[in-house]
Amino acid sequence: MIVVMEPGAGEEQVQAVVDRIKAAGLNTHISVGVSRTVIGVVGDDRTKHVLRESLERTPGVERVVAILQPFKLVSREFIPLDTTVAVGPAAVGGARIAVMAGPCSVESREQIIAAADGVKAAGAAVLRGGAFKPRTSPYSFQGLEEEGLRLLAEARERTGLPVVTEAMDASQVELVARYADVVQIGARNMQNYVLLREAGRAKRPVLLKRGPSATLEELLLAAEYILNEGNYQVMLCERGIRGFNGHTRYTLDLSAVPVLKRLTHLPVVVDPSHGTGKWRYVAPMALAAVAAGADGLLIEVHPDPANALSDGPQSLSVENFAALMASLRPVAAAIGREL
Ligand code: PEP
Ligand code: MN
Repeated sequence: MIVVMEPGAGEEQVQAVVDRIKAAGLNTHISVGVSRTVIGVVGDDRTKHVLRESLERTPGVERVVAILQPFKLVSREFIPLDTTVAVGPAAVGGARIAVMAGPCSVESREQIIAAADGVKAAGAAVLRGGAFKPRTSPYSFQGLEEEGLRLLAEARERTGLPVVTEAMDASQVELVARYADVVQIGARNMQNYVLLREAGRAKRPVLLKRGPSATLEELLLAAEYILNEGNYQVMLCERGIRGFNGHTRYTLDLSAVPVLKRLTHLPVVVDPSHGTGKWRYVAPMALAAVAAGADGLLIEVHPDPANALSDGPQSLSVENFAALMASLRPVAAAIGREL
């Protein structure tokens, strides 16, 4: 439920409404817009129902509107203005499109430093790299774990790039949050509710990837778990869904971008690397993602893709990444944004 204040409502009137809501045991989220203030109300539905009439009669209130969608805190009705997520010195969700780039996995000191230096020089805003790797086969490289996190922190020291890396399990969130600037929740874990709650309690932004078979409603409800614990710094990531053609590894659902931008205030990131699974298609889909309105990109870049321990076939070389960055700039400019 949201309480829409009249355009001329004063601060005391807003406070009186907030006090009334809190006295009923509910919580509020205040959005101050250009012409009016909107107060989101969260909590037990029955209490909201009882409160509704008295709120409608409170001075300064224009109307009280129920949110019909199953997701509340993430919905644009609840928070009309775009959320900007601060990631170190970068911001995701504003005019500047944030490119997060780096290898699928952290493999060695030399590898992550070469990748970090390369993506930094090409203009990336955030360094990515997996230390805990969700691999389809138990026989594949599983990641360097805490040593990988240490190497990421070293690469951040050196380049100034903030770091995003995955926590695969609730028990890893605290450790990952200690080293990283953003906690990634992988596609396979999108509906791991224990992990989502733990990420909601972490004092770090979260990059939540869409499950390969998840609807957008399921993605938004997964994000709702994180916001419901008090962490509003969440980015959603489209990374491809299960399709039926073999030309690409997944089917990158770019229509998710405008749909999500309409339904939610949270920033939307696109990962064309996992979305296509083939490095040749990464650049065209990255350009299309920016044109479609994505707030950020997640791109796998490896100093030696042919010898990568994971996702080599979809990784760009540093040179190809630099070329992509150059081609993204005019596309961003054409839609009034920058890199
Ligand atoms: C990744 O970003 O390296 C990753 C494992 O992605 P996803 O969870 O989308 O498969
Ligand atoms: Mn990968």
